[in-house]
Amino acid sequence: MMTDHVTDDLRRRFAQASRVAVLTGAGISAESGVPTFRGGGGATIWEWRGKPVSELSSAELLATDPKLVWEWFDHRRGLLKDVKPNAGHLALAAWEKRFDAFTLVTQNIDGLHATAGNREVIELHGSLLRGRCTRCGTTRELPPPPLPEMPPRCSCGGLLRPDVVLFGEDLPPGAYERATDAAALCEIFFVIGTSAVVYPAAYLPRSAKLAGAFVIEVNPEETDITPRADATILGKAGEILPQFDFGPHKA
Ligand SMILES: [Zn+2]
Repeated sequence: MMTDHVTDDLRRRFAQASRVAVLTGAGISAESGVPTFRGGGGATIWEWRGKPVSELSSAELLATDPKLVWEWFDHRRGLLKDVKPNAGHLALAAWEKRFDAFTLVTQNIDGLHATAGNREVIELHGSLLRGRCTRCGTTRELPPPPLPEMPPRCSCGGLLRPDVVLFGEDLPPGAYERATDAAALCEIFFVIGTSAVVYPAAYLPRSAKLAGAFVIEVNPEETDITPRADATILGKAGEILPQFDFGPHKA
């Protein structure tokens, strides 16, 4: 089923559900003005200082030139300075309060879901706002850019690295497992602002579907998910998500 607005049937399903899981991607952030790195909406960054993004955000470069990697990530954090959550982010924050079981899984690293008010976010690719110690493993919030020390250090003296999954690295331990569990247990699974072509995130809507969930896609145009989704709503997250009413609250 394809539509450009939230139909009564979809609204009814939503109001009756108690277990909802959501996967978000770059599209919802692009609506807030966050540049993307794969094209498809908003400003797309392919290279910086003459180096391709895939090289700048790689485990290989981190090992050989951590300062350059940090300068690149500081630049990216600088791009977020004036970025604010949009109506789509705010709707998801309200959903978290509404449902008995609500899981928000994101591929985004801009921290906008937390800023919008979501308390529990599974960040599959980590966060630009944190550093992680390469010696003791502690994660910490970074001060606003520019960083005073480059590369930054942990209080233990070890080098910090961005708490972000770089090209050539695995997802954070446990994150994908928690996301898969939520996908398998939910009644409605939303795919929002992502074509979900990047594995392993791409498996989540499939797992949800196999486990019997109703899969709803919200994207500006058709994607690889569309043939597998039970419903595709074509539009911006910021315009579509607020159309889902909560219906009567449960006691
Ligand atoms: Zn440390």
